[in-house]
Amino acid sequence: MITRRDVMELGAGAALTLSAGGVLHAQPGSARSVGYAVVGLGKLSLGQILPALKATKNAHLAALVSGKPEKARKVAAQYGLPESAIYTYENFDSIAKNPAIQVVYVVLPNAMHADFTIRAFKAGKHVLCEKPMAVSLEECERMIAAGKAAKRQLMIAYRCQYEPVNVTAMQMMRKGAVGTPRLVNAVMGKQTDLSDPSDVWRLDRTMSGGGALADMGIYGINATRYLLAEEPVDVRGWARTDKSDPRFRTVDDMVAWQMRFPSGAIGEGSSCFSQPGTMAWQVVGSERRMVADPACFYGGNGIRILGGKNDPQPQIAEIDQFGNEMNWFADVIHGRAPNVSPGEEGLQDMRIMHAIMQSLAQGGQTVAIESSYRRAYDPATAVGIRTAV
Ligand code: NAD
Repeated sequence: MITRRDVMELGAGAALTLSAGGVLHAQPGSARSVGYAVVGLGKLSLGQILPALKATKNAHLAALVSGKPEKARKVAAQYGLPESAIYTYENFDSIAKNPAIQVVYVVLPNAMHADFTIRAFKAGKHVLCEKPMAVSLEECERMIAAGKAAKRQLMIAYRCQYEPVNVTAMQMMRKGAVGTPRLVNAVMGKQTDLSDPSDVWRLDRTMSGGGALADMGIYGINATRYLLAEEPVDVRGWARTDKSDPRFRTVDDMVAWQMRFPSGAIGEGSSCFSQPGTMAWQVVGSERRMVADPACFYGGNGIRILGGKNDPQPQIAEIDQFGNEMNWFADVIHGRAPNVSPGEEGLQDMRIMHAIMQSLAQGGQTVAIESSYRRAYDPATAVGIRTAV
């Protein structure tokens, strides 16, 4: 059983991530700070990534890549970038000649991830690519191969694998905080709106690769895997979609799944595009439950341990998850931190989502996950180790 001391240490370790980011801090423009080209100026870039880059010490904004010149000029002016640091989707490949760019951060609709990742590798840059990695397994494999051929790093932007609440949960799970894990339940969803351009492509199968499952279900699948520290052997899924709803012409609305793990644990979950914003998971173990609700929001996440008497509850400091992730990747490039979420990790979630989609097409039949994938680094220890640097 996990002790109060363990919790305090783990909580403190997680909080330390905050300052551990500072251990390796460098000033923007110095040899240690990594220049990022951000591709796509949509909601995530404008709302989270660019502000985070401004405050991040190991990484700085070096270029913008956009299909909208007016918007790009306005954003460049706001962030003090010269016009020469603005690229279009067409002249993007000329970033090869710009040594101020070391990383390309792909923040585009999912169907555009593979193309820009592979072009970035051809230009000799490292790539941080948003989740889901791509829209097909074949694209994921090409992205991984292109990174290897270019001898450059590919990291998938699974911010929760670097985030103190989720990392603390993983550490507590490894120490047996719930006893033997029996069930992980993950509920991910939000309300979508066809008048929002950011939702239009999410509701388009070709652009998103699979609606709510690809957009939000992926968090639940990824969390189940990192909480249990094992890989599923098979999966089955069901969908419930109101086909008269104009939002769901090409994608399913609610998809629910069950996965079986070698230990005997079951991972179940759902993703849905017609419910209030929800990103929650819980682990049911033989002795306790661990509940995180919210678990994966940009802020306000937390864990509760339920089922015992006077169980200590971890208090975990918040961080800027996007700044932390970009700092981490800067350190990966400098060889100071492991790549905890490489392309292979993104491919594994894609495999599972594709097996769920196959099961939907086969009326809920169980589909085997054909993969020998094992993580190279467990975030519970890899991210924890770095906090002690
Ligand atoms: P968004 O729609 O707000 O932005 C997408 C950008 O791509 C826009 O600037 C748009 O102009 C541009 N674009 C170029 N070609 C386009 C086309 N054919 N159709 C639509 N847009 C096109 O999306 P977003 O919410 O910023 O998401 C971008 C990526 O980031 C997605 O892969 C998404 O899954 C991911 N994301 C991750 C998180 C996270 O927490 N890690 C959160 C939100 C989004």
